[in-house]
Amino acid sequence: MPAVIRENVPLAPYTTFRLGGPARYFLNARTVEDVIEGIRFAADRGLRVLPLGAGSDVLIPDSGFDGLVIRLASLRGFRTNGNLVYLKAGEPLPRVAREMAEKGLSGFEYVVGVPGTVGGGVAKNAGAHGGEIKDILVEAYVVDTGGNVNTLRRDELGLTYRSSSLPSRGILVEALFKLREDDPEVIKRRIDEFLSYRETRQPWTERTAGCMFKNPPGDYAGRLIDLAGLKGFRIGGIRVSEKHANFFINEGGTADDAIRLIEYVRDRVREAFGVELEVEIEIVR
Ligand SMILES: Cc1cc2nc3c(=O)[nH]c(=O)nc-3n(C[C@H](O)[C@H](O)[C@H](O)COP(=O)(O)OP(=O)(O)OC[C@H]3O[C@@H](n4cnc5c(N)ncnc54)[C@H](O)[C@@H]3O)c2cc1C
Repeated sequence: MPAVIRENVPLAPYTTFRLGGPARYFLNARTVEDVIEGIRFAADRGLRVLPLGAGSDVLIPDSGFDGLVIRLASLRGFRTNGNLVYLKAGEPLPRVAREMAEKGLSGFEYVVGVPGTVGGGVAKNAGAHGGEIKDILVEAYVVDTGGNVNTLRRDELGLTYRSSSLPSRGILVEALFKLREDDPEVIKRRIDEFLSYRETRQPWTERTAGCMFKNPPGDYAGRLIDLAGLKGFRIGGIRVSEKHANFFINEGGTADDAIRLIEYVRDRVREAFGVELEVEIEIVR
């Protein structure tokens, strides 16, 4: 069945921050063929392409995206072979953590509270509790701008702290991970510990995009923002969380409010401590 490409589709509902305007074109990809078709559609028209997973680490501008958004959250499925697991791009990380725990495979439990997908997790080298995607990734299957599927080994993906060479190198459609065998009950206990840690320290039932800034070397962005007296500070309808100062909460604001708050917080932290905070989320232009 040919892929359905819609026009003028609001993007806010496809992000956890619930912010941003419409995509000029939007494709909800369910298969690798859909992704290839989308890439060819964009190439024929000279359009930019934005891959979107669960939208938990992006800030879409109020003007939207003047190109083709290819959403991958519906590209689902996985298969295991011993301690190797092939995961499609749209598999949700919390679900993967639980499924692997059931199978007695350890390595994904630290992302149980990260509300992204496998594709977004690799693109951002997602991590928590001392682990990151880089530790378990073997290779990724990526569609390039010509519509070809390439295999990229872990060391070809430029994985560093919350960053990689994706999506510049293409759209990840599947990835292979190597896990470690462990007692399912032990893995599940770790999952419970990680979740209760999050529940007490992060505003994770609110509309946020996770941590706004990367932690500077040897410190925590949230600690610096808190010490600058900015907990609860608001611009328009976006507020710095009282629970965790590195989270911004959308209480009916705009993307523009969020950008102004990011700049304001960065300026105050620079003035107070001489530290230049680097934005962690992807600000779409
Ligand atoms: C409450 C909350 C808690 C969070 N906690 C953490 C945490 O502890 N640790 C952490 O690392 N992150 C955390 N995050 C951030 C976020 O969940 C992760 O970065 C996650 O990996 C992003 O996945 P996603 O599918 O939502 O990506 P998106 O937000 O959809 O996209 C992020 C980037 O990846 C690109 N991308 C997405 N899919 C693909 C693909 N298939 N191929 C190529 N590029 C792609 C996008 O173009 C974009 O540049 C948190 C977010 C929230 C809202």
